[in-house]
Amino acid sequence: MPATSQRLSSISESVIRNTTRTANQYGAINLAQGFPDFEPPPALLDALVVAARGPFHQYAVTWGSARFREALARKITRTGGVAINPDEHLVVTCGSTEAMMVAMMTACNPGDKVIIFSPFYENYFADTILAGAEAIWVPLRPPQFAFDPDELERAFAQGAKAIVLCNPGNPTGKVFSRAELELIVALAEKYDAFIITDEPYEHMVYEPYEHVYTHALPGAFERTIVCNSLSKTYSITGWRIGYVQAAPDVIRAARKVHDFLTIGAAAPLQEAAVTALEFPDQYYADLRAFYSQQRALFLDYLVRTGLPFTEPQGAYYVMVDIGALGFENDTDASDWFIKTIGVAGVAGSSFFREPVHNYLRFHFAKRAETLHAAGERLLAVSKGR
Ligand code: GLN
Repeated sequence: MPATSQRLSSISESVIRNTTRTANQYGAINLAQGFPDFEPPPALLDALVVAARGPFHQYAVTWGSARFREALARKITRTGGVAINPDEHLVVTCGSTEAMMVAMMTACNPGDKVIIFSPFYENYFADTILAGAEAIWVPLRPPQFAFDPDELERAFAQGAKAIVLCNPGNPTGKVFSRAELELIVALAEKYDAFIITDEPYEHMVYEPYEHVYTHALPGAFERTIVCNSLSKTYSITGWRIGYVQAAPDVIRAARKVHDFLTIGAAAPLQEAAVTALEFPDQYYADLRAFYSQQRALFLDYLVRTGLPFTEPQGAYYVMVDIGALGFENDTDASDWFIKTIGVAGVAGSSFFREPVHNYLRFHFAKRAETLHAAGERLLAVSKGR
């Protein structure tokens, strides 16, 4: 049998999705893979029923149906601080997951270097490798996940073609400040690199933090490739609808990658999702209030376990320091939490480039009763192992 591609040897299967499978096997409450256990907004489900009966069952326009792109452009123009043209600035993709792969292949030639902050969302490294590029790592040091500006500049000076920025951060919960983003933009300008942002948690930011859109900073729009998704904002992770948003020249290139990867995102779902994009501002205020409540509820239990954790500023993940429990590594800890405590979290090492083995990542995108049930189980940890 011929050997499979060598580039795959440095990528492992997703630890997040593997943890979900183990959690299901043992009946643990799954706070590992980030998705809600509640239904999307009813208006969106009604729109889906209507779309199912409509003429939307063949390919949509490759880069996204006109109605969807127009609604999306209006929504980004309203909430994202820049005027977006539906015909020039957008490619609709199968989730931010495809968007990130498209961005990477649009920005990079084989052998190019891509800066990735560590800890990082696991797809970024895999996408870099699949694009034939190489990663340059810059640490975000726990517990505050700050970066060293000099270290970042040294990474750019190695000839980086792009930097990947997850903001608000998965798994860190870090919300990059305006000053940090301005520094990143200045370095990207100085070294002529793209900024690839991944912003699916843009509307989940907790007081007193605010989401600053990198693309809206002076001088940033032309070199920023935004990857984003409707998954988290509208609780539709299974719909797989996302987008790339960038300057017209970049979008012309990105359309080609997207066309040959997937042709297009599901047509009836794009049609239905127009309804979500037209939700009023109140929807986003309510979403933020809801996640603030879930966060407070879950963090209260974590405080009672006695385990240290980094309070998330945004997104819906918490990195919990399980070092005091004395496990040899976090994979054993994750197994023990699933089998003995009955709650699943992701082994933190899967997010770190450095050998860090004292974190589990939990998320709180769940109904209050699920978080209470998980929290009660987690309290058993305070008694030790
Ligand atoms: N973004 C989610 C997480 O980090 C879902 C991951 C996935 O399975 N794509 O958990």
